[in-house]
Amino acid sequence: AIGDRLLIEVADRLCRTLSSCKLSKSHSTYVVARLGGDEFAILLDPIEGIEEALALAECLQAAIAVPCQIEGHELFSTTSIGIATSGNECDRVEDLLRDADTAMYRAKGLGGARHQVFDPAMRDRVTTRLQLETDLRWAIVRQEFFIQYQPIVALESGRICGFEALVRWQHPRRGLVSPDRFIPIAEETGSILPLGRWILDTSIAQLHAWQQQFSQDPPLTLNVNLSGKQLFETDLILELDRILARYPIVPGTLKLEITETVLMENAASVETLLEQFRARQIQVCIDDFGTGYSSLSYLRRFPIDTLKIDRSFVASMGIDRENSEIVRAIVMLSHNLNIDVTAEGVESEEQLVQLWALQCEYAQGYFFSKPLDADRATEFIAS
Ligand code: C2E
Ligand code: CA
Ligand code: CA
Ligand code: CA
Repeated sequence: AIGDRLLIEVADRLCRTLSSCKLSKSHSTYVVARLGGDEFAILLDPIEGIEEALALAECLQAAIAVPCQIEGHELFSTTSIGIATSGNECDRVEDLLRDADTAMYRAKGLGGARHQVFDPAMRDRVTTRLQLETDLRWAIVRQEFFIQYQPIVALESGRICGFEALVRWQHPRRGLVSPDRFIPIAEETGSILPLGRWILDTSIAQLHAWQQQFSQDPPLTLNVNLSGKQLFETDLILELDRILARYPIVPGTLKLEITETVLMENAASVETLLEQFRARQIQVCIDDFGTGYSSLSYLRRFPIDTLKIDRSFVASMGIDRENSEIVRAIVMLSHNLNIDVTAEGVESEEQLVQLWALQCEYAQGYFFSKPLDADRATEFIAS
């Protein structure tokens, strides 16, 4: 009900802004339509030039950015706006809407709360995406994926304690495609399920090999990223049991990384799953900690072993006092709750010195090493 009232309030603000915002041609007419969900379309006709649409987009964004009071709650919303223009009477409305939609998704993709004007290159990007979707389905069979391992260092001893597995896609024509680009597509299309199994299987096999080859104390650990889809749409536990039976790694050395958002959105079903992990001595890390909106109460409620401080906070430590304070607060919070902390994205000695002073347990980042192919990672352990 609050959601509906918020939408009504937003629609109201759209209309009020449109009637008060001075369009240069006073005889411009406009149509506002709700397209479903939380999407609206505005048709302006005629307009003098793109500047007019841009100015209006700014007015709308400012109007919607003002928080609303609904049932005693203060609610904040942001708008992403896509703009498409037509200079031609015969352009079809459907095409115009589709182009505006493409531009809007681009605006969202760039972080939202902004506007973006359609350009035909965006249409190519959509085609590229469709092509990637198709290619992804074949990529496993064609063995185009491989895994890199990024060292994680224990700050107290300065020694490597383990690795995070990061998947890579060597596309036959496009070259190396970033996981930030293909993981979301794999999640949407379901390819993440076979891919995720392959990642678990391959990286755990590697950990097993390393543990056989290097008997260090404590034994080497492995962090594997899990997507939300993987958690809830497969028989993940059965799969893990099967892999762990095949590669009997030292108990407690496998750590699964889950983002805060995934955890919060599935709080009810996640609890059983986390208990099943715990029963197998599989550890749980919260990835990108500090970037989602979450209530901290889940840290008490769920069995969590490690928090990974998002690299955006670590990156500006020392430059930006507030971010240093956030890092300090997260380290203190975890220590109080008896949870380990890993700082990701450590690139400079200065950051390291600060993390050391805060008694942060683990760190990972280009300062120590970039993600490495398996062979190079083996050399890294040996060195
Ligand atoms: P993430 O889990 O937060 O992984 C850390 C990312 O930061 C990696 O990017 C890593 O290469 C990069 N990184 C590490 N140290 C530094 C540093 O010092 N500076 C900077 N600027 N970056 C650093 P990558 O490998 O491109 O992965 C991006 C994201 O893709 C990952 O973010 C993760 O969300 C996802 N991803 C990667 N591999 C997998 C996977 O096997 N499964 C799933 N589900 N997601 C994966
Ligand atoms: Ca991660
Ligand atoms: Ca992360
Ligand atoms: Ca991330």
